Amino acid sequence: MAFKPADNPRHANSWYAASASDKRVRPVLEGEIRADICIIGAGFTGISAALELSERGYSVVVLEAERIGFGASGRNGGQIVNGYSRDLETIAGRYGRERAVKLAEMSLEGGEIIRQRVARYAIDCDLVPGGFFAAFTEKQVREMARSKAEWETYGHGGLEMVSKAEVGRYVDSDRYEGGMIDRLGGHIHPLNLVLGEAAAVENLGGRIFEGSRVTALETDGERPLVRTGGGSVSADYVLVCGNAYLAPLLPEVSGRMMPVSSQVMATEPLDAKIIESLLPANYCVEDANYILDYYRRTADNRLLYGGGIGYGGHDPKDLTAVIRPNMLKTFPQLKDVRIDYAWSGNFALTLTRIPHMGRLSNRVYFSHGDSGHGVTTTHLLGKILGEAVAGHAERFDVWASLPNLPFPGGRALRVPLTAVGAWWYGLRDRLGL
Ligand SMILES: Cc1cc2nc3c(=O)[nH]c(=O)nc-3n(C[C@H](O)[C@H](O)[C@H](O)COP(=O)(O)OP(=O)(O)OC[C@H]3O[C@@H](n4cnc5c(N)ncnc54)[C@H](O)[C@@H]3O)c2cc1C
Repeated sequence: MAFKPADNPRHANSWYAASASDKRVRPVLEGEIRADICIIGAGFTGISAALELSERGYSVVVLEAERIGFGASGRNGGQIVNGYSRDLETIAGRYGRERAVKLAEMSLEGGEIIRQRVARYAIDCDLVPGGFFAAFTEKQVREMARSKAEWETYGHGGLEMVSKAEVGRYVDSDRYEGGMIDRLGGHIHPLNLVLGEAAAVENLGGRIFEGSRVTALETDGERPLVRTGGGSVSADYVLVCGNAYLAPLLPEVSGRMMPVSSQVMATEPLDAKIIESLLPANYCVEDANYILDYYRRTADNRLLYGGGIGYGGHDPKDLTAVIRPNMLKTFPQLKDVRIDYAWSGNFALTLTRIPHMGRLSNRVYFSHGDSGHGVTTTHLLGKILGEAVAGHAERFDVWASLPNLPFPGGRALRVPLTAVGAWWYGLRDRLGL
């Protein structure tokens, strides 16, 4: 399928773009070039794979339709959440204990990759340790305790339950019945993280092109050929990492997930005493509801608050009108605070809520479908893509063996059917069931 490439590569109008540490614009691909590996998409997945492969000595070209980090990677809540969007018990029930153990063994690695790269490449992305999961009900507290016990059987030693009386150490809000901290969680400025990782790729000899939307992928020749509006890349392997922004390219990949939007806003910089009183430990916070709120402090003392959901990637007209009331439920003390930025972005939801990796041919691999928790998993799965094309496909094959089902109702009905499911779970949360 052919379509027009972007004329003016851009970022979302976010606080992240405004505070990006590297404002360089990379060149647009022109002419025909050759590389060992061509990667489609410069988000965490694509750049993580590019870095793994560059470190291994491969020549890498990354093609990005807009700017590095244009997609979810440059817009998200910045929360380093360990694990997957389904708990380990569900994974074991679905895929068997053996595969669940293998996935569990990898589940802390994404956060570790981030911390290692930040240190190795001196990436300035405001990395702060510590995350707090906030529970509204006793039932959610019990579920967290069960999940903690389960994680501990897989060696996670960073979790600690928090009683209602102790919540104030982490959040100054009376909404919560308790919660759990994860000392191996944390938060980052995600755009600066991906920009720093991209610069590391370039320093190792990798080439990244912006404003270079891939318009066709040809696989009938000896090597795959990736075409953009202005040029082409002939590569031994192609990695497809376009996630929720991939369509209309490769419907056989993009049809296996649904873009879902989430909205984020950032307040004006707050007085240091005020922001410290709201989040005293400087941990990021995510609540336990099905449609959840997530928030944290920024390095310049703003409150960055996210939530909301749009199935199919549809955004509400007024983003602030959706998020601000949620923020005020948590922190009514912020009623007079100005909102400086509001933006949204799309993540990729799979029906199983488990990321989906696979091969389109023996030279074309893909990974997508982090289902809302992707800061750590994309780092892990990008690395695993890199390992696979370097000839070590054991971990890739574990992921690729997981069945991935299409959404019921196909393209026409997947949005309304999923929205009905989410409405039901949201109602249960509102009723405290
Ligand atoms: C608002 C929001 C908040 C979130 N908050 C959190 C959070 O706090 N913690 C967490 O763990 N997860 C969070 N997530 C999820 C997380 O951000 C994503 O899982 C992750 O960033 C996905 O990375 P990716 O590289 O796979 O995709 P993306 O970052 O979306 O990158 C895909 C890239 O591919 C490019 N592309 C697509 N098609 C083409 C093409 N044809 N040619 C060239 N380039 C192409 C796109 O332009 C894009 O830059 C959030 C997501 C959103 C949207």
